[in-house]
Amino acid sequence: MAIRNIRKEGDEILRKKSREVTEVNDNILILLDDMAETMYKVNGAGLAAPQVGVLRRVVVIDTGDGLVELINPVIRKQTGKQTAVEGCLSIPGVWGEVERPANVIVEALDRNGEKIKIEGEGFMAQALCHEIDHLDGILFTDKAIRFLDEEELEKTEQES
Ligand code: ZN
Repeated sequence: MAIRNIRKEGDEILRKKSREVTEVNDNILILLDDMAETMYKVNGAGLAAPQVGVLRRVVVIDTGDGLVELINPVIRKQTGKQTAVEGCLSIPGVWGEVERPANVIVEALDRNGEKIKIEGEGFMAQALCHEIDHLDGILFTDKAIRFLDEEELEKTEQES
């Protein structure tokens, strides 16, 4: 496993659309391993492949309930609404409020190429939406309804 370099806002790769994974091969497994290691190293809650310079539809998430690896994730259902504070490993030091669904159901492939279904609520729903947005070149700052000031920054959540 290896730590990969996290691309920062301004890097045009973050604005590109990622391609679907057609075969879960060794390169994808290595990518998943490296992404998880990189996410944990910087204490993030999620990481999408374009953030490490790879335009593939791959994300890793850990909101505190263990590692979730998703290949070709698609949001199949979203319900409710939440306004959540978000940050991003690619946009250090910036935090904003983003409106997200309260619950989502996401379909994806796991590392064995098997179809899986993930239900996320609260922070997990937020993380799923945030990471899947990365795969379409969307950053949370595009959707933020308000940015936090310095005082509010003291009680921030994890970057993803
Ligand atoms: Zn992000």
